[in-house]
Amino acid sequence: MKLRILYDNNARNGFKEGWGFSCLIETSEEKILFDTGWNGNILLHNMKIAGVNPEEIDKIVISHSHWDHIGGLNHILNCAKEPEVYIPKSIPVNLKNEIKNYADIIEVSEAQKICENVWTTGELGDKIKEQSLLLKTEKGNIILTGCAHPGIESIIEKSMRFGDVYAVIGGFHDSDIELLNEIPIIVPCHCTEKIEEIKKMSESYKTCFAGYSSNIKDL
Ligand SMILES: [Zn+2]
Ligand SMILES: [Zn+2]
Repeated sequence: MKLRILYDNNARNGFKEGWGFSCLIETSEEKILFDTGWNGNILLHNMKIAGVNPEEIDKIVISHSHWDHIGGLNHILNCAKEPEVYIPKSIPVNLKNEIKNYADIIEVSEAQKICENVWTTGELGDKIKEQSLLLKTEKGNIILTGCAHPGIESIIEKSMRFGDVYAVIGGFHDSDIELLNEIPIIVPCHCTEKIEEIKKMSESYKTCFAGYSSNIKDL
């Protein structure tokens, strides 16, 4: 399994930056795009630099319906061939209907399997509901978050039902970060407000940027 950051507030190596987040998971069976950033042109540019063909995307998972996570969806749906789109059940009906015009949607409320070794946590949180992804690895589970509006600690606690957490990657927003002390690998991206504190408190910190890629086993 491989992970590539395709859209982030920071970028390197010819990738373009923009406010938002998108990440591609490649398993031996499928390519799964998690969130789509805001600017579809930047997302497609970054895919090109990464050597990722948008036509080959099998599944798209949208963490929540904020602009910086769904903005590029339109561009991807114009390229990808009949992808399935996993959306939080609580997103606005009009948005669901628009997506339905271009793709099959799967409305997520509870945790469910997306493909071998890839699960969604289901909708978490109260005000702004959001789903995170869980990647199952030999070292433990890797959590992928969008903005982490439910709070990174709450997402970690809920994810522990599925086994030990090995890594957390994604936007952490303004979350409390004490629990991160116990996580071996931390890759804060996108909207993480307490990034300087995380850097100081944790030896597990890794820098995130559009253009970052890693085999899951080497993370
Ligand atoms: Zn958000
Ligand atoms: Zn965001």
